[in-house]
Amino acid sequence: MTKRHQSNDIPAAVWPGQDLLNGKPVRSLTIIFRTIGCYWTGCTMCGFYNESAITPPTRDDLLSQLEYAIGRMGDQTNLFKIFTSGSFFDNREISLSTRNLILERIASTGTIKKIVAETRPEFINKDTLSSALGILEKYNVKLEIAMGLETSNDVIRDECINKGFIFTDFIKASVIASEIGVSTKAYLLLKPPLLSEKTAINDMLASIIDTTPYSSTISLNLCNVQRATTVERLFNKKDYRPPWLWSAVFILSQAKQMFPEVTFMSDPVGAGAKRGPHNCRKCDKIVAQSLRDFSITQDRSILSSVDCDCYYLWEKVIELEDFVYVPY
Ligand code: SF4
Ligand SMILES: [Zn+2]
Repeated sequence: MTKRHQSNDIPAAVWPGQDLLNGKPVRSLTIIFRTIGCYWTGCTMCGFYNESAITPPTRDDLLSQLEYAIGRMGDQTNLFKIFTSGSFFDNREISLSTRNLILERIASTGTIKKIVAETRPEFINKDTLSSALGILEKYNVKLEIAMGLETSNDVIRDECINKGFIFTDFIKASVIASEIGVSTKAYLLLKPPLLSEKTAINDMLASIIDTTPYSSTISLNLCNVQRATTVERLFNKKDYRPPWLWSAVFILSQAKQMFPEVTFMSDPVGAGAKRGPHNCRKCDKIVAQSLRDFSITQDRSILSSVDCDCYYLWEKVIELEDFVYVPY
């Protein structure tokens, strides 16, 4: 990841990566536009607020951010992933006309086949998506919306995450999108605060079952401790431990077995760090890599090929933690 800058004409972050497109690994580029930030700002684990601009970036600033990213795009990049410090389709962050210029510029690079743009569901409506599609179809570029659903459980989303929307809002946005040929990716959050490891795993398995009818891709985000968040306050008081990597291995393996046609991804940010998802430290690197390798191959056998003595400790945590913790 490139160094984070504070200037309004430089994005919050840009990095190249690998993703699946129509079942094949391709090169991707991810940009986090520095915008005025998410209007919601209330999620317990979210540190995007730290990355947002102090004064609203102008249209030229946003287009300069885009050029900075395009300058780091390899020749063979087929997938362009857009994040802001909030929602790409929120006019308060990026106006309709600027959004259209951004989409047109990305599509006109020639190699991009699909754009994935992250947004909260309340900004999705037929007009917004039709306007984006009107531009992208000229270049034969597909559009996918990515939404941070986090969980299909409205109580957990409300009380542990404070997300401010309900599962039905996600479903409505996804149905509107699919009616006009836009696919949906759902981000699920493994282990928000206040849940035991076992409850968190069960929440993800239930969420995957609930979400697959509305999403062709499900990305499992492993909660990490970001600066100036509720999760950090709990972590500092030793009231929060990020998820075990074994939990993600277990969930993805089960999920792929249940729904072989759905693409499951996970990029464990901060894996191995105290503030990130981790096992025993000895095996963190190799287990995190197995999650990434699985994401790009969808091959479950990769997940069962990793091993470490701490697996038995994780099993004990799952078996016993609920007896000393107050779960949902
Ligand atoms: S909606 Fe997204 S960007 Fe906004 S506070 Fe929540 S996690 Fe952060
Ligand atoms: Zn280990």
